[in-house]
Amino acid sequence: MNTIAENYASLVSQSCASMVGGEVGVKPMNGRTAFTFPCPFCSPMRSKASKQRSKDAILMPRIDKPYCLTFKCMGHKSCRKTFNFQEFLENWNPSIAQSYKNDLKNRGNEEVSPLRKILNDSNKSMKKKFVIS
Ligand SMILES: [Zn+2]
Repeated sequence: MNTIAENYASLVSQSCASMVGGEVGVKPMNGRTAFTFPCPFCSPMRSKASKQRSKDAILMPRIDKPYCLTFKCMGHKSCRKTFNFQEFLENWNPSIAQSYKNDLKNRGNEEVSPLRKILNDSNKSMKKKFVIS
């Protein structure tokens, strides 16, 4: 059974990957799942498409609290951000961060389709923002 954070992590990593035409990697860690994907903060700034798709960011379960996720970028040295999951969402996409907060409040609500819609819409606007000349 996935936690709410894992459901979000799965969608968010997919969205970050699709922004640069990349893929999401999944691996077991600390008894749960870690997601690797192109960093949404620095990968769109890279010049080569193959570099943009490199899975430099990870959302990983914490050792002490495996149901909490930590974001870490291991990419460009000007980025290398570390956030807890809530901070990551707020920096990446405030409307999804709000939606995540609401979902945590209403635990048990399985409805994810509004989130998919927000992701699709924000993906389009973010793509425009990251057009590389
Ligand atoms: Zn980065």
